[in-house]
Amino acid sequence: MGIKGFQGTSLLDFPGRIASLIFWGGCNLTCPFCHNPALVLDPESWPDLDPDALLGDLAGRTSFIDGVVVTGGEPTLDPALGDWLAAVKTLGLAVKLDTNGLRPDVLAGLLARRLVDRLAIDLKTSPARYGQLHAGPVAFAGLTTSVRLALAAPVTVEFRTTCVPGLIDEPDLRELGELVYGAPLWVLQQYHPAAALAPDWRDVAPYAPAKMASLAAVAREYVGEVVVKGL
Ligand code: SF4
Repeated sequence: MGIKGFQGTSLLDFPGRIASLIFWGGCNLTCPFCHNPALVLDPESWPDLDPDALLGDLAGRTSFIDGVVVTGGEPTLDPALGDWLAAVKTLGLAVKLDTNGLRPDVLAGLLARRLVDRLAIDLKTSPARYGQLHAGPVAFAGLTTSVRLALAAPVTVEFRTTCVPGLIDEPDLRELGELVYGAPLWVLQQYHPAAALAPDWRDVAPYAPAKMASLAAVAREYVGEVVVKGL
């Protein structure tokens, strides 16, 4: 666990468009389609970056970056995350958090301290199938709580789904759509199998663009805007 990677300047979907990207190691899932398997399966093979040194680096970038994107792995596993983000905020930088939403208590704490400006929560498959994302038990109720917290918080929220054949099809999207009904934005991402965590998922063919368009049409019945990425 801890900060494992840092990309100083990146053009992203972020208010202002320029942010530094920071990767946390470790995750509470092992999604077979994960495209960051080294961070998930063997985070200790990466040295921890010094959090204070990283703050110093960010301080030197405040004239040309607008914020930081906190991603992983799963950043909410780090007990030091909140205090580190508080230090980031003192630099005048905005914070975007990418999370799988399974640690609602941590998310609630970050939101209460107003440490997050933009929040992206993954919706990976229908609730009954979350058990396919990890060898151990998965408490899906945590994601439901996180969705409620996100929709009630004064932050910019997006939900994200990688459309992996075998995990996402129309019935799954409809169940997730009920969960996030009325949300402002749902991003559907194309599956890119080459670097998938599970070797046998590297042979799964992504959906054709026409199928992605039909899934997007389904998602639009539930939220304000749907964006398809990665085609
Ligand atoms: S896709 Fe995200 S939640 Fe799933 S194992 Fe990878 S980092 Fe963890």
